[in-house]
Amino acid sequence: MACLAGNFQIRTSFDYAFISDEAYFEILCTCTIMEKYCECQGSFCRNFEFQEASQQVQFGSIFTNGGYIFRKNSKGIYYDGHERADVIEYRKKWANRMMGCKTKMARFSENDEVTMPQLSTDEKAMWLVEGENPIRKKGPGMSLMISEFKCACHGTMSNGAWSSREVFHPGADRDGYWTSAHMLKQLESNAIPLFEVIHPGCKAVFVFDQSTNHKAYSQNALIANKITLGDKEVEEDDLCTLRDTTFVRDGEEQVQSMYYEKDEWFTKKSGQWVTKKVKYVKGVRTILEERGMWLEKDPYNPTSQPDFMSQKTALHEAVEVSGHIFELYPKFHCECNWIERYWGSAKREVRLQCDYTYNSLDKNIHTFLDNAGKLSNVRNYYNRSWRYIEAYSQDMNVKEAHDSVKQIHFK
Ligand SMILES: [Zn+2]
Repeated sequence: MACLAGNFQIRTSFDYAFISDEAYFEILCTCTIMEKYCECQGSFCRNFEFQEASQQVQFGSIFTNGGYIFRKNSKGIYYDGHERADVIEYRKKWANRMMGCKTKMARFSENDEVTMPQLSTDEKAMWLVEGENPIRKKGPGMSLMISEFKCACHGTMSNGAWSSREVFHPGADRDGYWTSAHMLKQLESNAIPLFEVIHPGCKAVFVFDQSTNHKAYSQNALIANKITLGDKEVEEDDLCTLRDTTFVRDGEEQVQSMYYEKDEWFTKKSGQWVTKKVKYVKGVRTILEERGMWLEKDPYNPTSQPDFMSQKTALHEAVEVSGHIFELYPKFHCECNWIERYWGSAKREVRLQCDYTYNSLDKNIHTFLDNAGKLSNVRNYYNRSWRYIEAYSQDMNVKEAHDSVKQIHFK
């Protein structure tokens, strides 16, 4: 592959929505796509490396029209893209799981006819809800971030003043910065209960992209990198917590706490000896010794233990606790995520309608988003993404999936 002096960089998958599917897939088939973590913007960037300079020129106008930059390649960690073996494997299994869910969901035709699923009497209807990262900060000026859950039947979910859309004002002296804790709070106290109110008796499939915020663990999750080899005294200001767990020894399930207390002797200033309870967090050695699995020469890593291995992320736990289904989109496959099309359309609406002052943006943001998210648009985005999912469930590669979706589109 010829190494070019520069490459195109696209920040986060939502920007992709500015490029038509057709153009995007021509690009996919023409160049190598890399993703790298960009420290300056705190997000993943998508890089396109063209094999020939002429291809770069060919697609250059698409990118520049979308407001992208052409810049020198900077050092960073690169990952292979959508053709990585683990991505293909996940994509196939995931698409099949999603197709299984689809049989229990409503369908929306192009002229807005809704076909309800054929369900057996003991099954409840199922709807798809998507969660997505907020729009990230783009320039040095003030910005707004939106975090929203959408379904194809309602668009933005709402009930009175209650809405599945959250507008966040990022900045040190404003709302702070959007973190995994904000995402979890929005899911638990807003999206899930709101979904249940407006879709009574239904089960949701909450689908998230694989961003860092979506993959965070809850504060007391069983994560091996919180643990040291030996036991450690718990400081009073130590926020790290580990939940109780269970393990099986000699065929019996046993509860294991990650903490213990013991009495220790201290001398007071007066010279008097007193005992005080000191709390310890167990180290790897103690945890494994209690399970009868500590080997002096070849110690086990606790991550190979079933309770550590099955630890789910905070969002995953919150969705499952409420009785709904949790899914993660495959990496590098924003075409499967219909909310990306909504973000792209919203961004376009803002650029067309906004007078580029912050006050105007703040005042009109809901109008811009509502225009982009009209129900007919949303169902169009939804149906298009499903066509890709269906293609991947049939083991197609990116090019074949694109050709198949294009055929359906022009029928
Ligand atoms: Zn709905």
